[in-house]
Amino acid sequence: MTRLSYKQHPPDGDWDAIVIGSGIGGLCAAALLSRYGNKRVCVLERHSVAGGYTHVFKRRGYEWDVGIHYIGEVDEKSVMGHLFDVITDGQIKWETMPACYDRIVLGDRSFDLVAGRKNFVESLVRDFPDSREDIEAYLALMDKVSKATPGYFAYQLLPIGVRQVVAPLVTRKFRQFSDQTVEEALRPIIKDPVLFDVLTGQCGDYGLTPREASLAVHTMVVMHYIEGAYYPVGGPATIADGTETVIGEGGGAIYTNAEVSEILLEGKRAVGVRMADGKELRAKIVISDAGVPATYRKLLPKDVAEKTGVPAKLRGIGPSAAHLCLHLGFTETAEELGLDGTNIWAYAPGDREENFARFAADSKTTIPFAYLSFPSAKDPTFQERYPGKATIEIIIPAQMEWFEEWADTKWKKRGDAYEAWKAAMSERMLEILFAHCPQLEGKVDYQELSTPLSTRHFTGHEAGEMYGLTHTPERFRAGFRARSGVPGLFLAGADVSSCGVAGALFGGVLAAGAALEGKLAGLILRHITPGLAAKAEEA
Ligand SMILES: Cc1cc2nc3c(=O)[nH]c(=O)nc-3n(C[C@H](O)[C@H](O)[C@H](O)COP(=O)(O)OP(=O)(O)OC[C@H]3O[C@@H](n4cnc5c(N)ncnc54)[C@H](O)[C@@H]3O)c2cc1C
Repeated sequence: MTRLSYKQHPPDGDWDAIVIGSGIGGLCAAALLSRYGNKRVCVLERHSVAGGYTHVFKRRGYEWDVGIHYIGEVDEKSVMGHLFDVITDGQIKWETMPACYDRIVLGDRSFDLVAGRKNFVESLVRDFPDSREDIEAYLALMDKVSKATPGYFAYQLLPIGVRQVVAPLVTRKFRQFSDQTVEEALRPIIKDPVLFDVLTGQCGDYGLTPREASLAVHTMVVMHYIEGAYYPVGGPATIADGTETVIGEGGGAIYTNAEVSEILLEGKRAVGVRMADGKELRAKIVISDAGVPATYRKLLPKDVAEKTGVPAKLRGIGPSAAHLCLHLGFTETAEELGLDGTNIWAYAPGDREENFARFAADSKTTIPFAYLSFPSAKDPTFQERYPGKATIEIIIPAQMEWFEEWADTKWKKRGDAYEAWKAAMSERMLEILFAHCPQLEGKVDYQELSTPLSTRHFTGHEAGEMYGLTHTPERFRAGFRARSGVPGLFLAGADVSSCGVAGALFGGVLAAGAALEGKLAGLILRHITPGLAAKAEEA
């Protein structure tokens, strides 16, 4: 067995590597260390289910995904598709989503984002016939930013001498774009304000409005999906299942219910972890996927953390947005309910910035936007696994501050006032769903609302944040890196790369690469690039 409950099967003492947190960043790092570094890796996850935001949760015969509603760039010829093959031993398969992967709804008008760059342009030109030039100029800018992006992150995989030379060059190139907000960069290009709102309609994917978000994160998200979107066949749980095989083959294991309370040091070096129950586990390599704030503020001793300079960098950079998610279950299939896999981004009419700010200050005001996702319509195995059923998620932005009065209560025991708040908000969220899918009215069999308190309870992310650190220009200026500043300790996940499963996955590559000190870059090239070439030839 390679996935065990820590409480029932506490692991013994020494490992080659310890990974704190089983988000996709941690799992990817663990699988790469296992596969290419011959390391016995112990993954420690505080939650009872592995996978971080890629885990699924089940209730009353239904299943919902938590933090992967779609993913781009995993087709069989892409580097990321290969990376997933490598870390899951080829176990993960991807279902192509409908050609219209995202539908942006602004009040009573709707606009389709269609897979394939040409289709993307033509579909928008149909809606905005006078804006072809603006759309093309916009994509030309996206191309420029995309070219400047990989080097900024990937140079960390290079050997130290080369790294020092390359770092200032790639950083300068990237920051000329990442220093701009979406608003600053795109307003001058996109003259039609409605088109601007459409092109920034995926801003929920990075949890910031155009006035706050860095152009870099916007570009990464838009270009990630532009050739089409995918969903894991069998649901997102297959990701943790696949990595478990690879980690297990290397003699490692994933432990759930395993909370780390401290990173152990000997002299200046990280040498292991202390668990919440006081047990110590040791390893030459420690990787934290718990996020930058938790690693430096909770897990490392204060004086050691301060010496790295990272807490100082963190001071101006807050957490990303929190959310509410209404999980819905139906006793008819997606097909019977007339659902398809297209995500709906439903915005309230009016100024987006004002709408978001008003709602953040007062949750009783109009909900500025809702993201509607239809997982049972995306996964072709859903009917086999849950015959006659369908699930939907409605996600809206939220503030941890709304829940202050319940902050010290326990999960499932937060009291009547909390339940009443949730019931009232759920009704408002359902109204939005029914406005878009009136056929669903009266058909909800099960509903459950998660709040930022639920997110904090399950992930340990203090502000209930969805995407790690906020993706402002300041975040990219601060530049959080896989090398932690403490020898033997490395960071994985979204905070050292960017948000999204793809970003966090790449954060895992950076951590494993840094831990193997340069060897991994060569190995990845050797193992993945020939694979790419071979597959391309077969095709
Ligand atoms: C609602 C929502 C929807 C999303 N939708 C999408 C989407 O459609 N597509 C997409 O690409 N991305 C999406 N994302 C973003 C994506 O899921 C995340 O960016 C990514 O999965 C983060 O991975 P990670 O490895 O950085 O961290 P996480 O997944 O946050 O994992 C960190 C893990 O560390 C564990 N941990 C923390 N502290 C400790 C400790 N002390 N001891 C042990 N374990 C610890 C936590 O429990 C957690 O499991 C979504 C996110 C959310 C929240």
